[in-house]
Amino acid sequence: AAPLLQVRDLRIEFRTRDGIARAVNGVSYTVEAGETLAVLGESGSGKSVTAQAVMGILDMPPGRITGGRILFRGRDLLAMAEEERRKIRGDRIAMIFQDALSSLNPVLSVGYQLAEMFRVHRGMSRGEARARAVELMDRVRIPAARERVNDYPHQFSGGMRQRIMIAMALALEPDLIIADEPTTALDVTVQAQVMDLLAELRREYRMGLILITHDLGVVADVADRIAVMYAGRVIENAPVADLYASPAHPYTKGLLDSVPRLDHKGGELYAIKGLPPSLMAIPSGCPFHPRCPQAQDICRTDRPPLYPVGPGRTSACHFWKETLDAASAADLAR
Ligand code: SF4
Ligand code: MG
Repeated sequence: AAPLLQVRDLRIEFRTRDGIARAVNGVSYTVEAGETLAVLGESGSGKSVTAQAVMGILDMPPGRITGGRILFRGRDLLAMAEEERRKIRGDRIAMIFQDALSSLNPVLSVGYQLAEMFRVHRGMSRGEARARAVELMDRVRIPAARERVNDYPHQFSGGMRQRIMIAMALALEPDLIIADEPTTALDVTVQAQVMDLLAELRREYRMGLILITHDLGVVADVADRIAVMYAGRVIENAPVADLYASPAHPYTKGLLDSVPRLDHKGGELYAIKGLPPSLMAIPSGCPFHPRCPQAQDICRTDRPPLYPVGPGRTSACHFWKETLDAASAADLAR
């Protein structure tokens, strides 16, 4: 069977007053049914924009898809008739955003908003839909769901609101959920609870999950694979355990070295120097070369392709082998 989702060589640009911002420059990744793919990158790396294109909330100016394909179960969303595309995106794919307060309607109770999903998409009666809403609030562990069903979004804490967003996303039992920084606005303990809940429900409902984050710390326990993005490209793609054990790209290595890890005894935390490039002026050759501690002459002139570097692994670094070997040696020494 075809994979659940394949993004193939996707290209997206934005017209701005200052010129064309090349936000996505040939991104490819795959999500198998029931799999969790973490898409990791700094802000401006193109991780959200790619997901927005999948979700179809980018089909308007100033954003423009200039190339590539988005295959859902083998069929290109970008090439199918509008009505069918809308049905897939409404029914089979759901999105969870960082900020529940601006995604939920402030003047409608959460129970009403949940019930509307069932009324509009499943044709349920008012009573039935209301009962399902309470059930779902229970399912995402909102305490006293039956008493709180008529409460408004602002009456819930940030963590509880994010649970309500998860409930909204689950309502139609989609095949794929895209969660864009779902816990970034929450404090650390609540973050872990919400992430655990999302992972648990993903397993139970057997959904695919794309987890977009800038925080390598949150993905280790929940993701199967990681696609690391930089300047609108995937620069490393690997099973999560492989990537943690031995990154094959200096940027990934820099990200790992800047996260506190239990297995690093002492040692200074490292910070990648410099800033991500402007999308209006992406550096020649390897876009990471101005910040890369391992850059050589060829890095300034030749854009690295995604080299296959191991089973199910790719890296867009000319010197992936040296990076991988160094990382493996360091891993053995620990
Ligand atoms: Fe660094 Fe060169 Fe590899 Fe780019 S290609 S990550 S600049 S070593
Ligand atoms: Mg974003």
